[in-house]
Amino acid sequence: MIGLVAVTAAGRAAAARLAAAWPDETRAYDGPAATALPTAFGACDSVVAFLAVGATVRLLAPLLASKHRDPGVVCVDETLRFAIPVTGAHAGGANDLARRVAAVLGAEPVITTASDASGAVALDGFGADLGLVIEPGSDLAAVGTAILSGQRVTLTSDQTWPLPPLPPNVTPGETQRGVPAILITDRQVPERDEPTVTYRPPSLAVGLGASRDVPSAEIGALIDEALATAGLSPLSVRAAATADVKQDERGLLAAAGERGWPLTFFRVSQLAEIPVPHPSETVRAAVGTPSVAEAAALLAASISSPASTSSTSSPASISSPVSTPSPVSTRSPASNASLVVPKRTSAHATVAVARARPRGRLAIVGIGPGARDLLTPRAVAELRRARIVVGLDQYLRQVQDLIRPGATIRSSGLGQEQERAETAVADAAAGNAVALVGSGDAGVYAMGSPALEAAGLDGLDIEVTGVPGVTAALAAAAVLGAPLGHDHAMISLSDLHTPWEVIEGRVTAAAAADLVVCFYNPASRERDWQLRRALAILAAERPPDTPVGWVRDASRPAQSAAIATLATFDPAVIDMRTLVIVGSSRTRLVAGRVVTPREYRWAGPMVSRGASGSIREET
Ligand code: SAH
Repeated sequence: MIGLVAVTAAGRAAAARLAAAWPDETRAYDGPAATALPTAFGACDSVVAFLAVGATVRLLAPLLASKHRDPGVVCVDETLRFAIPVTGAHAGGANDLARRVAAVLGAEPVITTASDASGAVALDGFGADLGLVIEPGSDLAAVGTAILSGQRVTLTSDQTWPLPPLPPNVTPGETQRGVPAILITDRQVPERDEPTVTYRPPSLAVGLGASRDVPSAEIGALIDEALATAGLSPLSVRAAATADVKQDERGLLAAAGERGWPLTFFRVSQLAEIPVPHPSETVRAAVGTPSVAEAAALLAASISSPASTSSTSSPASISSPVSTPSPVSTRSPASNASLVVPKRTSAHATVAVARARPRGRLAIVGIGPGARDLLTPRAVAELRRARIVVGLDQYLRQVQDLIRPGATIRSSGLGQEQERAETAVADAAAGNAVALVGSGDAGVYAMGSPALEAAGLDGLDIEVTGVPGVTAALAAAAVLGAPLGHDHAMISLSDLHTPWEVIEGRVTAAAAADLVVCFYNPASRERDWQLRRALAILAAERPPDTPVGWVRDASRPAQSAAIATLATFDPAVIDMRTLVIVGSSRTRLVAGRVVTPREYRWAGPMVSRGASGSIREET
């Protein structure tokens, strides 16, 4: 919940705008600042205070406890010019909140945290979305300062996690004497004299078996001893797991609960399918699976993303995660997990520990037709999140400023599509966070399909995220008017990879179906007759005055466009940076714009007055 603290008329009016923009997220706190602000601070996840920074600091100073737990507080000045994160910039979300507030109020976010100002990753939130936690005692301030001042810092990681890049002075490799270090490990590490930040990745799962009425102290001691003997950090345990028949085994529930671990229950039939090193016929006879602890550990370690595991499993729920595999996962349930502690037993309990292999992440990112403000915020976030960015050189140049320092850029030229797709997939399969960039929408006549084909053929277990982009047809349609108001087809006229007969067959079908047609790849220096041929096919079925519009470089500085008819249009002006839209037999020119009517089935006016007097569109 976001608390809104306003004490002046202007503040209250602005608070009302935020409340209207985010109706389910906000609560207003009125009254004197001296009571309203502390109340909101105590009750909310974050606070927007329409107060001076000084007043806010004075009121909150006695209440501040820890930057890891305090709510984020954003101050907005009386004239709504600035949104200033005052506390909890990272962990409290105040930087993000300031940007959101600024977007609603038309203010400027004033971000003062050093790492954000320099475009680097803030160490205290690094990898948080993957579930990395910071080992207490880590020297965030010293290592952060070393990174920002350009000193060398080593980065040592047990496994490759799909993390954002760190600046180039953070170099992968072993720790070195006298050099500050970042460690990403689930193993216990020796104390160092140099500044060190240790991240605990959510890589371990603890499998538990127990006989009736096992005391929680016994099972807890067995767990702690197993981890300690193997030199593993409990902070890396993402979950504990057992068989569903143990749902009411109190000692087991308590032992997991005391350690703050979600407990996942697997069906006995699921556990029985997992190959384990130490199956037991006695256990099979009693429970129905030859292994509980080892099988549950392996299964819990192998299921999808660590972050989702911890948020969805509650001790009381039966989870059947293997029935919902990741979209591109074709591997067997436990193939990306390995047993690191084989089962150990005490009088009434069994424990085993498995380690997960992190899944790499492939974001297929559409960067839109060209204009920066047609690039979606989600695409920006994915570009900034990627450690490896793959794409055509000219598109990567367009978004270069959004790629973080330290990221690896793999740019290649036209014609190398297949290699690009395969490189991106291989990088993701190695565990990295990869963005595969395409113009417009990266799935429309672009890299999305070859990349997913490559991933699918190899049966790779990677997480794939698609970020839609404004495709050329939409960008061009907006320039021309509303040509896509009714059914339409997109057809690429490139016969480099598609036989011309197939393309011609589709154009003929679109002509017969009276579809508006958007022609991608309409012409190039080598392909100069295809568009003419396609237009002739359409002209055979549509009136000569059917509008034809083209837009070159839609949304880019060099944008140009024109509207003609099937009778007057000259295909010689078209090149490969152009998109051509041919109207259907119903498409008209209205005040110089191309409009395809929506063709309501009923007669009568298209709009009517609603009860409130506002114009309501009938759909
Ligand atoms: N993935 C891209 C399309 C790639 S195919 C998208 O979704 O837009 C390349 C073709 O798209 C070009 O030959 C041209 O026909 C069209 N195109 C891409 N960007 C364009 C732009 N800004 N203006 C006009 N046409 C464009």
